[in-house]
Amino acid sequence: MSRKPKTFHGGLHPPDSKAASADKAVEICPLPDEIIIPLSQHIGAPAEPCVAVGDSVCRGQVVGEARGFVSVPVHASTSGEVVAVEARPHPSGRDLPAVVIRPDGRDQWCDDLRGLGEDELAAESVRNKLCACGIVGLGGATFPTHVKLSPPPEKPIDTLIINGAECEPYLTTDYRLMLEDPEQILDGVRLFAGVLGRPRIFIGIEENKPAAIKVIDAACASSDIEVVPLRVKYPQGAEKQLIYAITGREVPSGGLPMDAGVLVQNVRTAAAVSVAVRTGQPLIEQVLTVTGPGVAEPKNLRVRIGTPLRHLIDACGGFNGEPGKIILGGPMMGTAQLSLDVPVTRGAGGLLIFRQEDVDPRPEGPCIRCGRCVSVCPARILPTTIVAYARNDQVETAETLGVLDCIECGCCTYICPSMIPLVQFIRQAKGAIMAQKRNA
Ligand code: SF4
Ligand code: SF4
Repeated sequence: MSRKPKTFHGGLHPPDSKAASADKAVEICPLPDEIIIPLSQHIGAPAEPCVAVGDSVCRGQVVGEARGFVSVPVHASTSGEVVAVEARPHPSGRDLPAVVIRPDGRDQWCDDLRGLGEDELAAESVRNKLCACGIVGLGGATFPTHVKLSPPPEKPIDTLIINGAECEPYLTTDYRLMLEDPEQILDGVRLFAGVLGRPRIFIGIEENKPAAIKVIDAACASSDIEVVPLRVKYPQGAEKQLIYAITGREVPSGGLPMDAGVLVQNVRTAAAVSVAVRTGQPLIEQVLTVTGPGVAEPKNLRVRIGTPLRHLIDACGGFNGEPGKIILGGPMMGTAQLSLDVPVTRGAGGLLIFRQEDVDPRPEGPCIRCGRCVSVCPARILPTTIVAYARNDQVETAETLGVLDCIECGCCTYICPSMIPLVQFIRQAKGAIMAQKRNA
């Protein structure tokens, strides 16, 4: 195997800003006084509530059932009493239905959770277990994993890529997991491989994580899994860019990784798959990096799903200065949060707090046609032209210019000297086009 770092077209090099948390081992975050379990935590149909106010629930119990194939159930992340089933603040910025639990302090698991034995690992059984346990892609996409592991027969998968790039600045959760629990990741990788029929396997890690490359390399020593160092460049961890960097294959415009014979899974998803299959325990916790200049003590925290953001900030010593911007996720693809009552959901890898003096106060200006957004765009589309059409409600023209190929990496917005929120307009245009297609 060549150890020359691999990469892709476009992208940029924001400061990685990982030093504040990279060397901090994952800590367990204490339980909050109230747990808020949103019924919408994945791509696909939201779950349907199946508990009522006054019910007692145990840790791992289903509180919202899946609706349809592209959906997964949601579970209580601790034991306690259901005190509300109502709309609560959600990371999307809206108030959405949630099951609210008052913890009873016993944190008692349901006694009917059960993993699969070695003789029960047929592909269908594993997929069913992952669905029942609510496993979704934890790299941020939150697409149900059992669906991703069900490619149609005419699109066989011959290559599995495990994404350990963690190219978003500030975030160090994947890095800590690779250092602290490589065997759990590799167990999940083997389970993926069993479902897919023994594909070729790569684990891609950016070369600014030499300790993780060393640990994963050692763990893979007696296997045919190939560890691939990747050049440090954002968005190295985006699916299409990762596939191209590692295999040289291009996912066609409008296509999916399976169109190139590839399946991509994040390292945290692999670890969650191992837990679900071996123990039957559903996805009820998440590791998040809580960091940024606006928090007193940056940490990597293992947090129960449903924990309000304010509880995470308290667990990190509170604010450092006057908070100016709070982002759930990374600074490039994360979403700004207006309420600290928003709970942690599946897929959130970080909570970033910036002070008022860290936020660029410049207003949006006119496009100066510098072309920087075009040169960094890894999707090879023309952000400035597309946004000009999108702002004039000409989304059909935006579609012909390839707006649906945008991976929402945020590079164009980051580089724009005129502070134009390009990715925001592009996201809106994509949403309008998809709504038109659904209603057609
Ligand atoms: S147009 Fe989309 S893919 Fe291209 S740089 Fe902007 S956000 Fe990224
Ligand atoms: S980077 Fe900003 S100013 Fe430059 S061409 Fe793109 S939209 Fe215009």
